Amino acid sequence: MTCNFELPHYRELLEAAKAGGYRFTHFGDDPQPGDLFLRHDVDLSLPAAIRMAELEADAGVSTTYLLMTESVFYNLTSHEGVAAIHRLRDLGHAVGLHAVHPNVALDPRFDPVVSWHNPRPEFIAADIPGAVNAYGTRYFSPATYRSDSNQHWRSGCPHDDLRAGVFPWLQVLIHPAIWVYPGETMGETMRAMVAAESERRFEQLVADGIDL
Ligand SMILES: [Zn+2]
Ligand SMILES: [Zn+2]
Repeated sequence: MTCNFELPHYRELLEAAKAGGYRFTHFGDDPQPGDLFLRHDVDLSLPAAIRMAELEADAGVSTTYLLMTESVFYNLTSHEGVAAIHRLRDLGHAVGLHAVHPNVALDPRFDPVVSWHNPRPEFIAADIPGAVNAYGTRYFSPATYRSDSNQHWRSGCPHDDLRAGVFPWLQVLIHPAIWVYPGETMGETMRAMVAAESERRFEQLVADGIDL
């Protein structure tokens, strides 16, 4: 098995977690032995989120997508944004808020679960009235947390440990764009994403009646 940040290996990670006996769980109750809280902070790309969500549904897995209302990269109130939420729900996933501190504008689009965008130590673990904080102390400790941030697993790719059932329970943060767009490094992956977005922009311009 080759560890990379591409969708076939993401699928292998999901299968490893299943083989290790983990149970895909949504945020809400305290972690129980065997729980796997698989969370996606959607910082950059709704199309990447949908692609990953479809792969997960195909694998029979339900995870948590945390979407931004204040992203500079996508507009959740556009027709694309509204359709994306519906699609994620239809595929059986939970949808929460990826919030920019201190704004927690939860509305009926979201389940009451929040992760902070670019969290800082002074507020990361604080209680959030009316919502579960994915970075709260009960969910967030180094031994039971793994993240693919900047296309780098600080403690190595967790697939072996998942398959072996090493973690008592685990929260994993996966950023869809990293896995959907090709690239050996975060920089390469971001360049591929921007190139794809450029294509999409021209399609949107045509759809908007712009004479190219
Ligand atoms: Zn791996
Ligand atoms: Zn973020």
